[in-house]
Amino acid sequence: MAIRKIRIMGDGVLTKKCKEVKEVTPRIRQLIDDMIETMYEEMGVGLAAPQVGVLKRIVVIDVGEGPIIMINPEIIETSGEQCGSEGCLSLPGKMGQVTRPNYVKAKAYNEEMEEIIVEGEELLARAICHECEHLDGIMFVEHVEGELYDVAPAEEEEL
Ligand SMILES: [Zn+2]
Repeated sequence: MAIRKIRIMGDGVLTKKCKEVKEVTPRIRQLIDDMIETMYEEMGVGLAAPQVGVLKRIVVIDVGEGPIIMINPEIIETSGEQCGSEGCLSLPGKMGQVTRPNYVKAKAYNEEMEEIIVEGEELLARAICHECEHLDGIMFVEHVEGELYDVAPAEEEEL
């Protein structure tokens, strides 16, 4: 496993649409392992492949209950609303208020390319929305209400 370099906002790779994964090759497996290690190293709650420069539809999330790997994720149901602070490893030291659904249900594939359902509320719901948007080249700053504000690194969870 290896720590990969996190791309920072302004890097063109973060605004591109990612491609679907058709097969989990050894290289993809390596990428997923590296993404998980990188997320932990950077104290993130989630990480999407384009954040390490790879335009593939893969996200990893850990809200403190162990890693969730989602390949080709697709949000299929949402409900409710939550408004809270959100940050991103690709925009270190900044956060902003973002409204997200309070509940999210998503369909994805695991490393065996078996279909899985991931559902969650609060932080997990927020993380799923945030990471899935990275796969379409969307950064959370597009949803920020008001101004971004400065935050000390690792003070808040970053997605
Ligand atoms: Zn992010």
